[in-house]
Amino acid sequence: MIKPKKAIISLKGYEPNLNPYLVKLDANEEKDYLSDKIVKNTVFPMNLYPDNDNTSLSIAIANKWQVSTSEVIVGNGSSEILELLVKTFVDKDEVVISFEPSFSMYKIYATINGATYIPVLPNEDFSLNVSTLLSAINEYNPKLIFLCTPNNPTGYLIPKEAIIEILDQTQAIVVVDEAYMEFSTQDTSVIDLINTFDNLIVTRTFSKAYGLASLRLGYGLANERLISLLKKVKAPYSVNAYSQIIGQNALDLESEMVRYTEASKNRRINLAKSLSDLGIQIYPSEGNFIFFKSKQNLYEDLINKGIMIRSFSGELANYYRVTVGSEEENALFINAMEAIINE
Ligand SMILES: *Cc1c(COP(=O)(O)O)cnc(C)c1O
Repeated sequence: MIKPKKAIISLKGYEPNLNPYLVKLDANEEKDYLSDKIVKNTVFPMNLYPDNDNTSLSIAIANKWQVSTSEVIVGNGSSEILELLVKTFVDKDEVVISFEPSFSMYKIYATINGATYIPVLPNEDFSLNVSTLLSAINEYNPKLIFLCTPNNPTGYLIPKEAIIEILDQTQAIVVVDEAYMEFSTQDTSVIDLINTFDNLIVTRTFSKAYGLASLRLGYGLANERLISLLKKVKAPYSVNAYSQIIGQNALDLESEMVRYTEASKNRRINLAKSLSDLGIQIYPSEGNFIFFKSKQNLYEDLINKGIMIRSFSGELANYYRVTVGSEEENALFINAMEAIINE
């Protein structure tokens, strides 16, 4: 049979968890807390292609952030924007840099699109080593840099000063993925800098804090020129009409989202304490998840008890990421952990 592109032959694609479960704490999904309020009598002409410019939703996003609509691009999940950035700016064999461990899709998008992906090693505690990153930028002259803050899976924030330092030292496109910023106790967003640095783009999503992962809706914010380049490359009509309407309704309920994420932060504190009390080494998280290290392999034992969390392999064997669930889910998870540890 005909072979795929070279980059695809050895590519390990994204693998969603397919095990049966009672409690799903593996994918940082949230509760369906908005849909009964935002799914109204939603009618739209199902025979027509959706608005390619996402006009109403872009206006709502622009209002939320006090930017111009020309500084907004809406995507089929923020994932679409992340890949669009690689497609738009990175030629074959040019370099994409990120630090590790971080979101696995950065490497996958770079690889699929023929780029060379360079991972930067973290500090001992898995936090970003800014000087190592700056040296790598110097050495490899990347075209694009992905920075995830709060970082998935570790939960660390990247200090705003560090992002500014990086922006000051590179002409590369700097993508700051703020998928989890709503869960942070400190607002270190760099959205206010999109007109200070012409190479900065910030991405956000409806998949986490708004509990709307099924809609596949996210967006990017950057200066007008950068956004217009992305729009040239974007697949037409990639965001369906239904998601555009529901997303706009969701933005009308901003205070609900804030109340919800505040409660989630409290549950994160309690979950972190319960894990620590079990003698588990946890990493301080600003996301809706907690990264931790176990002395033993937990994955199969937890699956056998119906509890699904995210496991890692290679260097990160015996490291796990658990989504902050409801109080009930967290209790089921902690009880299962307790039973496994005491077995
Ligand atoms: C979940 C997540 C996203 C969001 O992806 P969508 O395509 O918007 O659902 C983006 N970046 C990171 C790091 C994530 O964990």
